[in-house]
Amino acid sequence: MTGPVFDYHSSEMEACLDEVGTTAGGLSSPEAAARIETYGPNRLPEPPGRNPVLRFLAHFHDILIYVLLGSAVITAAMQHYVDTAVILAVVIANAVIGFIQEGKAEKAMDSIRRMLAPQAAVLRDGERHSIGGEKLVPGDIVLLEAGDKVPADLRLIRTSGLHIQEAILTGESVPVEKSIAPVAAEAALGDRSCMAYSGTMVTSGQGRGLVVATGAKTEIGRISGLLADVEVLTTPLVRQMNVFAKWLTLLILLIAAILLTFGYFVEHHDFTEMFMAVVGLSVAAIPEGLPAVLTITLAVGVQAMARRNAIVRRLPAIETLGSVSVICTDKTGTLTRNEMMVASVALSGHRFSFAGDGYEPNGTIYLAETRVNGLDHLHLAELARAAASCNDASLHRREGFWAVEGDPMEGALLALAGKVGVDVSQELSARTRTDEIPFDSRHKFMATLHHDHATHADIFVKGAPEQVLAMCAQQRAPSGESEPLDVPYWMDCAEDMAAHGQRVLAIATREVDHAQTMLNFADVEGGLVLVGLVGLIDPPRPEAIEAVAECRKAGIRVKMITGDHAGTAAAIGRQIGLENPDRVLTGRDLDTMDDAALAATVGDVDIFARTNPEHKLRLVMALQSQGITAAMTGDGVNDAPALKRADAGIAMGRKGSEAAKEVAELVLADDNFASIVAAVREGRTVYDNIKKVISWTLPTNAGEAMTIIVALLFGLTLPVTPIQILWVNLITAVTLGLALAFEPTEDDTMRRPPRPRNEALLTGGLVWHIVLVSLLFLGGVFGIYAYAIDRGYSLELARTMAVNTLVVMEIFHLFFIRNIYGTSLTWKAVRATPVIWATVLTVTIAQFAITYLAPLQRIFETESVPLFDGLLIVAIGVTLFAIIEVEKQLRLSMKGLVFRRSLNKR
Ligand code: ADP
Ligand code: MG
Repeated sequence: MTGPVFDYHSSEMEACLDEVGTTAGGLSSPEAAARIETYGPNRLPEPPGRNPVLRFLAHFHDILIYVLLGSAVITAAMQHYVDTAVILAVVIANAVIGFIQEGKAEKAMDSIRRMLAPQAAVLRDGERHSIGGEKLVPGDIVLLEAGDKVPADLRLIRTSGLHIQEAILTGESVPVEKSIAPVAAEAALGDRSCMAYSGTMVTSGQGRGLVVATGAKTEIGRISGLLADVEVLTTPLVRQMNVFAKWLTLLILLIAAILLTFGYFVEHHDFTEMFMAVVGLSVAAIPEGLPAVLTITLAVGVQAMARRNAIVRRLPAIETLGSVSVICTDKTGTLTRNEMMVASVALSGHRFSFAGDGYEPNGTIYLAETRVNGLDHLHLAELARAAASCNDASLHRREGFWAVEGDPMEGALLALAGKVGVDVSQELSARTRTDEIPFDSRHKFMATLHHDHATHADIFVKGAPEQVLAMCAQQRAPSGESEPLDVPYWMDCAEDMAAHGQRVLAIATREVDHAQTMLNFADVEGGLVLVGLVGLIDPPRPEAIEAVAECRKAGIRVKMITGDHAGTAAAIGRQIGLENPDRVLTGRDLDTMDDAALAATVGDVDIFARTNPEHKLRLVMALQSQGITAAMTGDGVNDAPALKRADAGIAMGRKGSEAAKEVAELVLADDNFASIVAAVREGRTVYDNIKKVISWTLPTNAGEAMTIIVALLFGLTLPVTPIQILWVNLITAVTLGLALAFEPTEDDTMRRPPRPRNEALLTGGLVWHIVLVSLLFLGGVFGIYAYAIDRGYSLELARTMAVNTLVVMEIFHLFFIRNIYGTSLTWKAVRATPVIWATVLTVTIAQFAITYLAPLQRIFETESVPLFDGLLIVAIGVTLFAIIEVEKQLRLSMKGLVFRRSLNKR
């Protein structure tokens, strides 16, 4: 098979369908299954991954490693072969650890990327299904609507106002209008207006197309290398930290070089000894493992979010999410379940109420408490027919349950038709839909044109009541005749339904000339006959109510931005527990405000109703002008600018369009508001963990470096040999530090106000912590060393005790760092996590090995430590812990005092 199954210039539609063995109802499932065998999945070939050997070697590309490799050469030249071997072994072990960690992080990111695989709406066996885009085969009929990404190369067979943005293929960013008329065979790609190409974006309208090429055979598939944009695992903060680490490394190397020169030329130390000492210093001072551990911390965070149904598309979002102080959210489907059910219908003179179960097209209808038969009421039957016709959804019975394919609200209308007693499939086959104006959140209605097989043609319209009422001149009387429109009556009905939290839709119709086959805005702009109003309930999600409460504790304000009616929005806002549900601003109110007035009001209002996507953009900008870090949700194509502008743009994974997902930072797999809050919680956790990794690593390095510098400056014997330092830093410290990447959320994480967006990471507090802890490390190491020498122990034993003290202090410091915001003296804190204990155990075993195993003793120049002295070493760790814990409590309680005083002042 080369090229498409038929050409874009083929003219006869039926011939086209025939040629590819498809009918107007699409392929049959067995045929589709057979074709996927022949043509393969509709997937672009994956860009080749980086060569593993090169990836492994990349771990040696690091200044410190170069220095170490250099020292390996020098030690070899000086015939210190054991040192050479140890240096090389440690360098290789370090690269292996890094390689494995990086592999894991990348795998995690890959699996998360796969979670965003696009869906396609296709006709199969005469029914609409949504399937994974990969499952499309040539001959499938694909349905397109605004916001979709075209899933394969299509020959269009039906279009209405279809516009497609083809920039990725043609570079042209203005959307082009599509039609079904054939074009010349030699037409350039950008001029093939009867084709829709894989990977391009539908910006408005609707269409239907026949798949002519899939996978690598598509136009986009031919341009190879286009999809190789793999994102590196980093965020601005981590990048900054890495830059900092790089300069720090340079500074340390500079100091080391100066010390070497000074020691050798001025103090006339032995070169070998001096050289090994400054190598030891460099190893001690450089936070070698930091960048790798930070990357892992991010990867762990991304995975944790994915487990909570929040899929990160752009990594910096992890950081931003942690500092979000306002979340602007959609209502339908995010705060509510988007499981719609018609609860009431208002017609001229009658108000019906409905009962039933889910989307089951069977149920009871009441007219003022008495059960009635739907078909006995002419205008009710007409409403049901119109609602079922002006509709793109379908209902399926699956495993005993009725489920919707398409928009849940339209599904509810089909169920309504069933309850009334209208046979939907018979209705649809009696009249063909010849044209439509698709729903758009800007004009808030949808219209369809239908022709029966005789002489009748009708327009059906459904949409927001204000909108539809304005397009009507008359209303349907119970008799089936038309009567003058009673606007106040309908407005009352709509207000009443909205006040009960119902979503209100108006349904209207009009008969037109049978010769008319096109539907334009002018055809619906006036002269419609209003049939009635439908009130739909959509219960709030219980977990959203909890999540809103959590946000309030966490200092995050939740704002609801909806296209729905003000009354409905306020009712739902109250049920959900928004802070200020009493003040509602509508899109029209927003239009009358200038930017300054909006900026002044936006903070205090939590409900924005009857808005359109442009209002979302204005709201985001108004919030940002107040210095607020705002998250914004969205689903449609038109939401894209607001999502892009928001600090954290959040798209809906299920009902959201590809256009929205493409620009979003975060995609919600379950469309659920609670998942946003979970993501914020994880975002705060990741930030805390980054801070913990840094707060743990830097003092450790500083302490070790100071030990060596002090020894060098005062001409003392090194209490720890360079080889031992190498071991402590490149093996134990990297292992211990990694445990912090997996730290769970601290208890009070969602009870703290959001962190200011520009909060500095290296705060005065952190600098103080580094100074304090490194001094304590220094004291501990020299203390035990002096004690050992004083007892008349050998130099080797004294050094062994010093190394072990260093590692024990690192472990106790690790336990301290786990709880930077509260006490570490709870059972929960001591019990810690399996990861912590696993790393601590590994490091302890390794420490025992180099202390007590004869072969390792020879390499590391160690000696067995007596039991009592071992206990003494642990006691030093406990003392360190006690001092820093008391210091923290002192600081926290002082903060409390200051805080209380400032409260009293107010
Ligand atoms: P939201 O999703 O924020 O609730 P929308 O912008 O989707 O709001 O819808 C706004 C209004 O448009 C709804 O209250 C409803 O009256 C009307 N509407 C929504 N979906 C459709 C549709 N598919 N066809 C016709 N009208 C619709
Ligand atoms: Mg909507």
